[in-house]
Amino acid sequence: MARRQEQESAREEVTEVARDVLRMELPIRMPGLGHVNMYALIDSEGAAVVDPGLPGKATWKAIEKRLAQAGLEVRHVHTVVVTHSHPDHFGGAARFAKEAGAKVIAHREFRFGVMEQPEQPEVSVDDLTKQVDDSPTEAASHARVLKGWNARTPWGGEHPKPGFRTRMKWRAAKMLGGSFIPQVTHPVRAGDRLVLAGREWIVTHTPGHTEDHICLHDPDEGVFLAGDHVLPTITPHISGLAFHPDPLHNFFESLDRVAAIPGISNCLPAHGHPFEDLAARTEAIKQHHFERLDRVKAIGRELGPANVQAFSQKLFKPRSWGGMAESETYAHLEHLRLSGEADSHRDREGMLVYETG
Ligand SMILES: [Zn+2]
Ligand SMILES: [Zn+2]
Repeated sequence: MARRQEQESAREEVTEVARDVLRMELPIRMPGLGHVNMYALIDSEGAAVVDPGLPGKATWKAIEKRLAQAGLEVRHVHTVVVTHSHPDHFGGAARFAKEAGAKVIAHREFRFGVMEQPEQPEVSVDDLTKQVDDSPTEAASHARVLKGWNARTPWGGEHPKPGFRTRMKWRAAKMLGGSFIPQVTHPVRAGDRLVLAGREWIVTHTPGHTEDHICLHDPDEGVFLAGDHVLPTITPHISGLAFHPDPLHNFFESLDRVAAIPGISNCLPAHGHPFEDLAARTEAIKQHHFERLDRVKAIGRELGPANVQAFSQKLFKPRSWGGMAESETYAHLEHLRLSGEADSHRDREGMLVYETG
């Protein structure tokens, strides 16, 4: 697969991507991703930052360096906005709160590591390339540390065990008390208005990739902070492991919701480069999932009654097999079941078995 822009390594340069909005690329090592964009929104008081990277020293060093390039110091950051509860987005938030007294803004349902959701990778299995030794993402592994390693998936499969280094890293993080998980001081909901970069931004709730995902837009200048909801060339991971019974349906609704925002001409994603046409990109992402749903139905016709693992192994290439592929397959099967296009029952071993017409 050609290298995607979301996989490019973090560049040092700081670029103004909208009026008083600076893009600062921070390094991350996660499957399928090479950097995360922290945006600094500058005003007369200092700056608000959106999605300040992974927890840890390497990120913090990069943050200090990028801020310095813009003539800023950590103490100037009065606000952190977190688009959703993945560690590559909230990693620096707790430290900004501690060192700069920054307020932390996130959706009021922001939660991390408190539910049976050990499978929370960032990008769709289609877009993963093996970059690092540990294939499950750090997010996935961390949630598992908090909940224990051996939980069974709702469809009866086993969660994949993360690599040794990931396990050790998160065990250490747990011993530190999970102090990198921020306290949200200013929870927001859909329709709330925030003043950032000296102008008003509107919050849109966009569940799908996570249930607590938010996007922000500036209606006057047509700028849209997309988080992971709409990425330029890859599709975000939609996990079947969610509180909501049909996360894929939620995701479609959230894509339609942002496509309907009038006047957007500048989309700023959390990974990859800015792009212009939000509606076209949301449509392309939906098409990808519609094709996948058709493929799942065809597999069902071919296999007859089959469990999630069997579906996932037809849907994905062997190198992608495992819990993440099963989680995405499960999300698609449940979407078909809840829209009346599939049936399910449990077999004697407790495995969910699906039939598509
Ligand atoms: Zn994410
Ligand atoms: Zn992300």
